[in-house]
Amino acid sequence: MKLHEYQSKQIFSNYGIPIPSGGVTSNAAEAKQIAEELGGHVVIKSQVLVGGRGKAGGIRLAKSPQEAEDLATQILGMEIKGLSVRRILVDEAANIESEIYLGITNDRAKRKPVMMASSEGGVEIEQVARDTPDKIIKVYIDPLLGLRDYQARDLAAGIDLPREHWRSFAQIALGLWQAYLNCDATLAEINPLVITSGNRLLAVDGKMVLDDNALFRHPDLAEMRDLDIEPAAETEARKFSLSYIKLDGHIGCMVNGDGLAMATMDIIKLHGGKPANFLDIGGGASSEKVAAALRIILSDPNVKAVLFNIFGGITRGDEVARGILAALQEVRTDVPMVTRLVGTNAEEGKQILSQANMITADTLVDAAQKAIHAAQGGLSG
Ligand code: GDP
Ligand code: MN
Repeated sequence: MKLHEYQSKQIFSNYGIPIPSGGVTSNAAEAKQIAEELGGHVVIKSQVLVGGRGKAGGIRLAKSPQEAEDLATQILGMEIKGLSVRRILVDEAANIESEIYLGITNDRAKRKPVMMASSEGGVEIEQVARDTPDKIIKVYIDPLLGLRDYQARDLAAGIDLPREHWRSFAQIALGLWQAYLNCDATLAEINPLVITSGNRLLAVDGKMVLDDNALFRHPDLAEMRDLDIEPAAETEARKFSLSYIKLDGHIGCMVNGDGLAMATMDIIKLHGGKPANFLDIGGGASSEKVAAALRIILSDPNVKAVLFNIFGGITRGDEVARGILAALQEVRTDVPMVTRLVGTNAEEGKQILSQANMITADTLVDAAQKAIHAAQGGLSG
């Protein structure tokens, strides 16, 4: 789960990282008011969950409260990379001398968190990694020891940070590590961390991504999820504990087990089709869950055929079949459907599905080929 800039910076601030004063609003008149309180010289920042807002015109400096209101009106009407701007952050403007990058993520190969710093801040780190990889300094953090002082100093020295800022930099690095650790984040990033003309370090931008699998132990953080920007299908999938990822193909897939889901997608591709989604209904799914999954698949207008690949173990074929029928009573559809049902109660399942207009298949390859053919309009039940 991605957090907005204002949410990330609030968390950073709780860990002692200096951030600009500011306020969030979805109203231009209120932006003017906030600007007045901050002394007039502010930056208006669109709160959308994509990077590169600056380049897209979603970050603008205002020199007066009136200008703040005008820019707020403009930005609140914008769309950035397909996302409409619903909220803005009005921050006291910083006088920037230079921009640094500081971030932590997990290095899967090293099986450790890695903290990275670069003197080339303000630019996306992926670009720095491509163009000037030697400008990224890394230290690996032993999760049992945490970030050590000397590691923060190594980063500071590595990016040629003037000595006078080392103490403050080390505090910020430590705060960032603690925020990352305590929130179960997979990314915590300050880009840019700036040196101001007043010679202070200040986190001007902030980004956090939290591990969805750990959110259950952070109800306060889970509440920060912005439902406005999440596709409705994903909200719905989460409600029923389905792992659902929308893709851009035409064959909707309903599968139990993530390995089987990946294998199913591979076989579809191998035979020249493209999956419309990854969907794992998990083990022992109830008919309600199956019905929800089918509704979600069918809500995607790109879906031209649905493939059910159910390998019954804990999951029972009859339960899945009942779920499919229940969903089909709610959603009228003429999208062709192919089922491949084996394992526990497969026969009962097939019996139930014989009432529905289904194409059946015995093997996965057979099922994939039939689904692809059906998606091209070649077959109907
Ligand atoms: P991003 O483009 O989505 O990463 O948004 P940022 O918050 O990082 O802002 C982009 C750029 O705008 C920064 O790298 C800065 O150069 C500039 N910027 C952001 N806030 C301020 C500010 O308060 N004052 C000044 N002068 N520039 C700012
Ligand atoms: Mn940024």
